[in-house]
Amino acid sequence: MERDALSLPQGHDRLLLHSCCAPCSGEVMEALTASGIDYSIFFYNPNIHPVKEYLLRKDENIRFAEQHGIEFIDADYDTDNWFERARGMENEPERGIRCTMCFDMRFERTALYAYEHGFKVISSSLGISRWKNMAQINDCGHRAAAPYPELVYWDYNWRKQGGASRMIEISKREQFYQQEYCGCVYSLRDTNRHRRAQGRERIKIGVQYYGMDDDGTARS
Ligand code: SF4
Repeated sequence: MERDALSLPQGHDRLLLHSCCAPCSGEVMEALTASGIDYSIFFYNPNIHPVKEYLLRKDENIRFAEQHGIEFIDADYDTDNWFERARGMENEPERGIRCTMCFDMRFERTALYAYEHGFKVISSSLGISRWKNMAQINDCGHRAAAPYPELVYWDYNWRKQGGASRMIEISKREQFYQQEYCGCVYSLRDTNRHRRAQGRERIKIGVQYYGMDDDGTARS
């Protein structure tokens, strides 16, 4: 796979990468490895429900990190805090203010961990998904890093120069679990409503894997 050589901002040599799931982080991880960048995975996603879906996404990400010899930092699954912060936003649409809260929360914890453990650069795999608003994600990332004077949020566009296609290729090669909704219970509800309106079946958790069909649609 042809990729440009990457380098971290401001000459830094170590990255804390927030990962939302294996399909999104697969291409990001392989691009970082190909450029010889030293990085660790930070998995903090208390938005994902139910727990069966959370464990499917997390365990697969752990396996892929082990395969690459990359440190995997497994942070709390503090769902109570997530629901507390989401209160009043239950009916907000995807890409709206509930999602800003959700990115803020995940990146705040990433930035805190980075500060406490000597990382000077953070980034996230979230922006590679075409379902996401990259500007919204980048705003949240910069806001999370801002309280720490030496910390930088790296807003590299992982989709460009074939990154989005390689994400699908890698997911198929690895036969990753293919999530069918963004992650929270509200996105599960809304996706099921949409499917019902189209006469389609409800989402079945733990069933769909890349490479099992020709549909390269990923939700994350
Ligand atoms: S739709 Fe996705 S990004 Fe938005 S609040 Fe739910 S899990 Fe978070």
